Amino acid sequence: MSVLLSIDNLNAHHGQLPAVRNVSLQVRQGDILALVGANGAGKTTLLRTLAGAHRASSGTVRWEDVDITHLPAHQRVSEGLALVPEGRRLFAGMTVRENLLVARAAGRRGQWSFDTVLDAFPQLAPKLNAKAGELSGGQQQAVAIGRALMTNPRVLLLDEVSLGLSPLAVQGVYDALRGVMGQGTTLVLVEQDLQRVQAVASRIVCMLEGRVVADAPADQLTRAQITAHYFGAQRPEAAQPNHHAHDAHKEAA
Ligand code: ATP
Repeated sequence: MSVLLSIDNLNAHHGQLPAVRNVSLQVRQGDILALVGANGAGKTTLLRTLAGAHRASSGTVRWEDVDITHLPAHQRVSEGLALVPEGRRLFAGMTVRENLLVARAAGRRGQWSFDTVLDAFPQLAPKLNAKAGELSGGQQQAVAIGRALMTNPRVLLLDEVSLGLSPLAVQGVYDALRGVMGQGTTLVLVEQDLQRVQAVASRIVCMLEGRVVADAPADQLTRAQITAHYFGAQRPEAAQPNHHAHDAHKEAA
């Protein structure tokens, strides 16, 4: 599979604080890559740096063979790299229809259109004239993903799409995402629920304190190994088989 994104020795800071440290990673066409790690591991900062929403301090990001490390975010969107940000960031006072259509001009031509997005998220059809801010969390997440799809991304970066949603709403979002994956869109997603990660991801990348500490095909990492990476392998208690990473994550918070 061809490499779409090559990340080489990437560093990103918040002020003096290093949040992403020497990250090297490749995203290949068709990957469903899940980024996991405890609160503060640097997952959001990495996604935002890839999307051009956060400045890289050093290192390179290549899109196919082109260095895009310092390309503005909107130009990355036109190249086919779109971010669904943590917290969704919709235009709350605009309607669902407006939120979807506003993204159309930013992106590429392709299979995703207003109609195909509504096919993927049928729950939005009766809500088109509702203000985005009045929707439920699950519906808002559907709009956020739909808005990104309207730009026809080749790589879709998804930051914690489950955050704050009911289990039913999470299921609805992932059911729709399965359709998106079926269309061949490459996904990089941050997800805290390891069960879901293991169900959907083709590759799992674990981050700890800004660094990549594991990068492997999903079927080659056990839950216990992933959990151990939440804390670093030097913490033997984290490697116990029944220790759930989701709980571990809460303890770490
Ligand atoms: P979470 O699961 O909490 O979103 P994360 O793995 O996405 O965590 P980041 O949000 O990227 O991690 O945070 C990485 C580091 O950068 C943390 O130490 C965090 O405290 C710090 N950080 C994140 N955002 C900011 C900010 N706006 N200003 C200052 N420091 C920040």
